[in-house]
Amino acid sequence: MKVKWIGSPHCSAGRPHGPPIALVIHTMSGSLAGCDSHFNNTSLPPDKRVSAHYGISLSGEVHQYVRLEDQAWANGILEAENIWPGPAGINPNALSVSIETEDQHNPAEKVTAEQYEATLAIGRLVLHQYPHLHYLMTHRAITPKNRPNCPGARWVESGHFGKLATALGLEPVV
Ligand SMILES: [Zn+2]
Repeated sequence: MKVKWIGSPHCSAGRPHGPPIALVIHTMSGSLAGCDSHFNNTSLPPDKRVSAHYGISLSGEVHQYVRLEDQAWANGILEAENIWPGPAGINPNALSVSIETEDQHNPAEKVTAEQYEATLAIGRLVLHQYPHLHYLMTHRAITPKNRPNCPGARWVESGHFGKLATALGLEPVV
């Protein structure tokens, strides 16, 4: 598994609330190259600055933006009707690892075998570092109002999300 370090200034140092409990899967609404620049766009207003730990292309290329020991700004705040299983009062970013997956702006873009395998490999790498991580989550489980289609049908209804949860031994939260 080759991981290319890109980096992003959009992150919070350390994990003051302990190790992550959840791996969160996203769909990019864009491309890996777009993530590289968006996560490094310091001219954005503070509330629009975002990042994820990893981005994975349709061809299985992996970029890393934030160290696992630090918090990516990926999941926003808990919205009404969320099903976040973590403790109340702690931002989910503090207790999660986030993976963005390329979709080339097409919500119906199929998860390729290469993209799935790379996501699985990254999941294993994360679990190697954090063996007590317990949940595989969709972004929409945290922000159902603003991100109802993240990661959407390409992951969930296609069965890839469930297959990934089983392969990693994680409890799915959809
Ligand atoms: Zn998302």
